[in-house]
Amino acid sequence: MTENHDPGISPGDLYSIIEKVHIGIVIVNNDNEIKFINNKAKLFLGLFSGDRNADIGSRVISDGEREIEITREDGTLGRGEAKTVDTEWENSKARLITIRDVTNSLTESEGVRNSALYDPLTGLPNRAYFLTILEQAIARYRRNKQYTFAVLFVDLDNFKRINDSLGHEAGDKVLLKISEILKMCTRKNDAVARFAGDEFLLLLDGLKDVYGILKVVKRIQDEIRDPIKMKTRKLYIDSSVGIYISSGEDITPEEIVRYVDVAMYRAKSRGPGQYEIFDQVVFDQVMQSMKLEEDLKLAIDRNELKVYYQPIVSIADGSIKGMEALLRWVHPTKGMVSPADFIPLAENTGLIVPIGNFVFEQSVYQLKKWHAQGHLLEVSVNLSVRQLEHDKLLNFVRKVVSDSEVSSGYINFEITESIAINEEVRCIERIKELRNTCGKIKIDDFGIGYASLGCLQKLPIDVVKIDRSFISKIPGDINSLAIVKAIIAMAHTLGLKVVAEGVETEEQLKCLRAFSCDEFQGYLFSPPKPPEDLEKLLEKNRKA
Ligand code: C2E
Ligand code: CA
Ligand code: CA
Repeated sequence: MTENHDPGISPGDLYSIIEKVHIGIVIVNNDNEIKFINNKAKLFLGLFSGDRNADIGSRVISDGEREIEITREDGTLGRGEAKTVDTEWENSKARLITIRDVTNSLTESEGVRNSALYDPLTGLPNRAYFLTILEQAIARYRRNKQYTFAVLFVDLDNFKRINDSLGHEAGDKVLLKISEILKMCTRKNDAVARFAGDEFLLLLDGLKDVYGILKVVKRIQDEIRDPIKMKTRKLYIDSSVGIYISSGEDITPEEIVRYVDVAMYRAKSRGPGQYEIFDQVVFDQVMQSMKLEEDLKLAIDRNELKVYYQPIVSIADGSIKGMEALLRWVHPTKGMVSPADFIPLAENTGLIVPIGNFVFEQSVYQLKKWHAQGHLLEVSVNLSVRQLEHDKLLNFVRKVVSDSEVSSGYINFEITESIAINEEVRCIERIKELRNTCGKIKIDDFGIGYASLGCLQKLPIDVVKIDRSFISKIPGDINSLAIVKAIIAMAHTLGLKVVAEGVETEEQLKCLRAFSCDEFQGYLFSPPKPPEDLEKLLEKNRKA
């Protein structure tokens, strides 16, 4: 230091300046012994005058910047920013550490109160503090790809029940115990933080491989599972863990927290006491379907759902007998989304119920319009399992039918083969009631599932729709040809009508005619269209 300063300043002046600045200055040698420290640094670090060997190394020394806890002028705790750079002291390598009080700058910029770094219950770093610790780990990883770290999201599986049944005091005791366990299972350089409620975040520093990380995870889960003794009983607690392992991409602390959160959520969905390692591909899929689900919730109100209709045509005379209602979603940014992409999602989330009701109501009122125009058509509405299981389905159907005053015999339902062979009596009863209330019941996508023609006999159905996958292969494929022919013949002996789906060529139609198939649908005649685009076809149909 002495050699480098401006020759105009004496060492004495320099020291008095160093004592006046509002920055803590420390110089340590390679063995982390303090070689120089100003009073400000002693205050910040809570050291007494003679306290030269205090282990400040582990507290403040790091590569580059680090956030530390400091004692402030007024004795309260605050937040300090410590920076370390290499220097020389008495001709050997040393490190210069500067410490700045950043408590207030943080209070102003982030709106955080006082020493908002620690969780008051457990004394662990809180969420905000953990994010800065994570930021440093990311920075270190960026500089040195040999350095690795892992982040764990630990969530207790039944904490809410403990809190509700034993009270908050017991809940707090459990959280304290868990924080002890987490500290015990980690090393000195690792960080353990309380994120919120019963959620903890851990940074495992410098772990070499997945195996090592999983060993820590297993130990944590085992220790937490060890019964915790309370006054009157023992508590058994499981925990779910999401894991992120440092890897190539540019990433922010917030992103990592979101990733481990999702991984933890997926682990929990598999049952108690599981863990899951974050995977980018899976994450993207989860996010996509979450977004789609959000959009779908709004789709009805935003008027994005439309019902298209595809004509069902008599093979004998080419007249239009009816229409199948097929749902369309015009997404504000994605454009037309295929029902194949959102119907399964709607089923999983239960959204299929309001959406299905919408399709049914639209179809019934469209049918009423057609009847008023003199087109005596039928309409077929698709029903999924979830809809059929819903208790209010029948009441809704009855209400719409009576409100619309449409002839109910013209309303048909399409049910897939798999629901129809569902052994559940309740399901079969529902189908029967629908058939009593409305028109025909059609078995959709027939041939791809496990329904045998024999079991069709026991079902309350009127029509079989042969799946498109068979129609698309005739007449070329002999097996498909044989199957189509057999389905038609046997359905007829059972007194059922047959519709072929997905007819695209004259050849296919000719074949179906030869087998005496009753009706067909397909691009050959018309794709599904909005009702206003079907007027011309219907006018032609009237004249024929
Ligand atoms: P699905 O009931 O088997 O409907 C027939 C599908 O075949 C429709 O696809 C239709 O557009 C398509 N299609 C018709 N003719 C041809 C053709 O000649 N060639 C080809 N390649 N395809 C043809 P879409 O409209 O994409 O619907 C797919 C599935 O989504 C439907 O299969 C049905 O299972 C489901 N779905 C559609 N609307 C609803 C609805 O309102 N409720 C329920 N629960 N499911 C629906
Ligand atoms: Ca259908
Ligand atoms: Ca079908």
